[in-house]
Amino acid sequence: MRQLPEADRDAIRIAQDPQFTRWLGQLMATGGCAHPVHLSGSTTTLDATTGEILRHYDTRDEPGERLSVRCRNRRATVCAPCSRLHAGDTFHLVRAGLIGGKNVPDAVRHRPRLFVTLTAPSFGPVHRAGDDRCQPRRDRTNCEHGRPFGCGAVHDTDGSLVGQPLCPDCYDYTAHALWHAHAGMLWDRFVIGVRRHLASSAGLVQSRFAERARLSFARVAEYQRRGAVHVHAVVRLDGPDGPTDEPPAWGTVARLTDAVRASASRVVVRTLHSPAVGELALRWGTQVDTRPLRADGLGPDDDAVAAYVAKYVTKGANETGAGTDHKLTNWADIDTAPVSDHVRSLMRVCWRLGGLPEYEPLHLRLWAHTLGYRGHILTKSRAYSTTYAALRAERARHVGHAYIPATITERSWRYVGSGHTPGGALLAAGVAEDIASNRESARDEIEAPR
Ligand SMILES: [Zn+2]
Ligand SMILES: [Zn+2]
Ligand SMILES: [Zn+2]
Repeated sequence: MRQLPEADRDAIRIAQDPQFTRWLGQLMATGGCAHPVHLSGSTTTLDATTGEILRHYDTRDEPGERLSVRCRNRRATVCAPCSRLHAGDTFHLVRAGLIGGKNVPDAVRHRPRLFVTLTAPSFGPVHRAGDDRCQPRRDRTNCEHGRPFGCGAVHDTDGSLVGQPLCPDCYDYTAHALWHAHAGMLWDRFVIGVRRHLASSAGLVQSRFAERARLSFARVAEYQRRGAVHVHAVVRLDGPDGPTDEPPAWGTVARLTDAVRASASRVVVRTLHSPAVGELALRWGTQVDTRPLRADGLGPDDDAVAAYVAKYVTKGANETGAGTDHKLTNWADIDTAPVSDHVRSLMRVCWRLGGLPEYEPLHLRLWAHTLGYRGHILTKSRAYSTTYAALRAERARHVGHAYIPATITERSWRYVGSGHTPGGALLAAGVAEDIASNRESARDEIEAPR
């Protein structure tokens, strides 16, 4: 026994616990979460009229007198099981808004729906690969820093130079950081602009738009190689009541496409005046992609779109090479962050600008690790489809365990810790692996007949 590694000895200790079955039940209920949160407390459900106790749950009866719940981290590098679950929820959330299900009517698949990609503008030339690859310039001129304007090299798609500026001194890091800090506002104004363009194309006064139609969306942010965020979004047009309501006759795919293009090209956000920086006018990049999602199966597949969007929510900033997963607290953190020189320069400019009083509301230091971008990875409008909370509640009813019910009348809970002992971690990893491989074989069965 003493010769076994500590984790194994600990796992054996746990397995000998008289409450091991219940212990394993908790592990299963958290899906083998790598960093579970432990709670202590009780829930009592009373009959509202008689005062009779209908249900009583107390962690005193649980192993270790505590209940473990998932950490729910979306990043695969932090907790693989929770990340998979989150990606699955995102998939269902996006899919329900495309083809119905989860209390969304199937009729949404016949509504005008677009898959839209909006990009950041150029902040200076960067090395590129693929169709858009680096091109030598015929005039062979250099910038004021003595670096060539063009590049004749052919880079591999995953080459380390791709996304790095041709001249870091010419690259507009200030504009890049400030654009990130205003990307959420740019999106909000873009949506307002789409509504406005739709209204005017239908001959409506803007203020009447909400009485005739409703615009819903789910969007996800992705970091490109140059460290700039771009946005993929599903945009759908319904009647005024949302998913249950038919859009008006004028609400066509063509009109929606025109409105998206017009709004993306015209929307501007002006930064607050700064003595150091001046005032910038921030816009979307000129590359705007709008793809109609057709109910007849021609064009992009709905499931593929939902899977594409879900994929991005599991990625942390460090996985995409654009930032780190943890916040930066000082200059030394930036100096030692495992990132490219280009990303480090962006972090530095975020830190520097974050120290200016006029930019305080942008919280650039707090978000220097994500290069100034402080939006959520996934954002959706209320009427798009279901919610993460509803999906979790549905799953909890299905599993029927380890969920704090919604109908409680009296409850008291407190946090008592988090994480596994070495042996617990070993067992949790085993549970997570089982669940993952079961899910994979279930998926194989579904996909095989195609
Ligand atoms: Zn977890
Ligand atoms: Zn190049
Ligand atoms: Zn230069």
